Amino acid sequence: MSQGVWQQSLKASVTTATQLATHFDFDPQPLQSVEAKYPMRITPYYLGLIKHVGDPIWKQCVPDVLELDDNGLLDPLDEENHSPVPTVIHRYADRVIFLVAGSCASYCRFCTRKRKIGCADMAISFRELREGIDYIAQNTQIRDVIFSGGDPLLLPDSVLQDLLARIYSIPHVEMIRIGTRVLVTLPERITERLCAMLKSFHPLYVNTHFNHPVELTAEAIAACTQLADAGIVLGNQTVLLRGVNDNPDTMSTLFRGLLKMRVKPYYLHHMDLVRGTGHFRTSVSSGLEIMDSLRGPVSGLASPHYVIDLPEGKGKVPLVPHYVKKTDGNLLIRASDGSVVEYPDLES
Ligand SMILES: *Cc1c(COP(=O)(O)O)cnc(C)c1O
Ligand code: SF4
Repeated sequence: MSQGVWQQSLKASVTTATQLATHFDFDPQPLQSVEAKYPMRITPYYLGLIKHVGDPIWKQCVPDVLELDDNGLLDPLDEENHSPVPTVIHRYADRVIFLVAGSCASYCRFCTRKRKIGCADMAISFRELREGIDYIAQNTQIRDVIFSGGDPLLLPDSVLQDLLARIYSIPHVEMIRIGTRVLVTLPERITERLCAMLKSFHPLYVNTHFNHPVELTAEAIAACTQLADAGIVLGNQTVLLRGVNDNPDTMSTLFRGLLKMRVKPYYLHHMDLVRGTGHFRTSVSSGLEIMDSLRGPVSGLASPHYVIDLPEGKGKVPLVPHYVKKTDGNLLIRASDGSVVEYPDLES
């Protein structure tokens, strides 16, 4: 098959600290043991967003020695025990995650599936994909299939098309979502040809993964516009990351900017307890403070749900600032200007 622009970008990616040291002034040597354990890849486009060593883009994609010094869990969400077949995670009755790809355009240092992303044991075979499709076909309660991985949009168009067609030929499947970060790290992946193909699989939702306003570039906007014009509903999942986006101003700029690009902020994830990511974790109260700062001053459409994914596969739970206090009969509700309003409530 002929190589497209995006495949060439992938090939031109930076995959070692030594290579990175030809672009920035830092000592690559201490990072070599990190990249040996957790693979590194930075696309030329994403590399171009780094302004200096240690900035929010750098932190998301460049290995850090702190990744080795962490006693987090390998699989905090207990995904392995919720996998009836290797490519399916089935935790909620009506929806599944379908792991269709094992690699990503750039490897995020905070990845929840850090234990296997980009590693040999994440390589997915056609047999495993077929097992996943069979499982979904046999379980009639599944309405919603979430393509994930790795990044599903690293699959060639023809493979993706085949998978979408097979899943949509299952009568009980009502919708497909694709989780992808190429809009952030490899926007050239969004081609006219891809959009024309995706358009034939509605209803189709794409959830992407912008974490910082610097990522909202002209290229990213153009890629999102192409998908939105193809009728795809775009959502965004942000991860709350220490030193990257853990403050109200960064978040409100990010969420407002996303809405302007026709991308709805869907979730703000509290960092999972994943091994190798401890240095990104913030307190829950810093997340609640951000949510509180959005309430009122920022459009309700720009507010995602702040969620924590509980260990042992207990699922996602929304965390909300404390607005309501019960007194005798009436409720005391904190308004967005900080004042407390007494509100009459019905007896329950
Ligand atoms: C997050 C998640 C989903 C999707 O949940 P929504 O709240 O519907 O977006 C599905 N399955 C698993 C295992 C998940 O972790
Ligand atoms: S794109 Fe998603 S799956 Fe891939 S490394 Fe980043 S967070 Fe992990």
